[in-house]
Amino acid sequence: MLNLLWLQGASCGGDTISFLNSEQPSALNAFKMLDINVVWHPFLSKEQGDEVLKIFEDILNKKIPIHLLIIEGAIPLGPDDTGEFFLFHERPFKDWVMDFAHCSELIMAVGTCAAFGGVVTASNNINEMSGVQFFHNKEGGLLGRDFRSKKGWPVVNVPGCPSHPDWIVETMTALLKGWIKQSDLDKFHRPRVFFSKLAHHGCPKNEFYEFKASAVKFSQQGCLFEFLGCKGTLCESDCNERLWLGRTGSCTRGGFPCIACTSPFFPDKQRPYFTTRKVGDIPVTLPQDVPKAWFIGIAGMSKTACPERLKKNAVSFKQVP
Ligand code: SF4
Ligand code: SF4
Repeated sequence: MLNLLWLQGASCGGDTISFLNSEQPSALNAFKMLDINVVWHPFLSKEQGDEVLKIFEDILNKKIPIHLLIIEGAIPLGPDDTGEFFLFHERPFKDWVMDFAHCSELIMAVGTCAAFGGVVTASNNINEMSGVQFFHNKEGGLLGRDFRSKKGWPVVNVPGCPSHPDWIVETMTALLKGWIKQSDLDKFHRPRVFFSKLAHHGCPKNEFYEFKASAVKFSQQGCLFEFLGCKGTLCESDCNERLWLGRTGSCTRGGFPCIACTSPFFPDKQRPYFTTRKVGDIPVTLPQDVPKAWFIGIAGMSKTACPERLKKNAVSFKQVP
């Protein structure tokens, strides 16, 4: 039996909901297949109040070993680094996390808030929120850049707002089975297998993108990059190849621009969300996977060469001949 402790900091609970929507396998089957015993989870476990305190004490007293610690939600450090904005049994949540981290074999930060700070660090971050081992793109966070778990691992970040159920289940599986190496993580400690492609790859609007045939309103069929702020060409995730919601959809398939929710800079540096910032006619942030000069040169030619069929469909809500 492998013991899992799942904690929620400053969180909407969306990553747990996403995890519970896992289908291949279901969340319960994943637990069974991995022989996981859920020591405690704030939504899934029946223990409350003093019963939870007893579990926590047993963990700290080494009566319950923790093989995997999952943290969802950011860690409140304020005010003035005391953590007193968020107490659990009259003790700052950050102190519980720090102690549990030191007695866990492996640790995952699930969702962009736990990984990098996420939405709760937006604007002026008055509550002094932080990711578990990163603050935005900087290593550190609550645990510090040199922290390593009992098995010698840094915190493995599985961002997303929320994280895709596959990203959570497969990372959990790979870690517990020993199928992943630390060299399989990228510089933000994300498993490369999910975060080395761009959300743009596999988007069905790629044909429109190639000819710069753009939507001007939501739900039109054209590419969302030129006017509606799509960051799929800048955002590392496999959302358009893996698909969501019963493997049927993604943000851009639903006519919604990718807002780069897996980025360490989400949400502040992804704004504005639904308008493409430009200097003249050139978007300020250009695609990551093509040289900038090439993109600027080719964009005008592509527009000129755009077939009539694509021009019409780009601004249409349904397919027209
Ligand atoms: S809508 Fe976004 S992800 Fe899709 S082709 Fe356009 S830029 Fe790429
Ligand atoms: S398409 Fe972009 S905004 Fe949507 S879930 Fe994927 S990374 Fe997040």
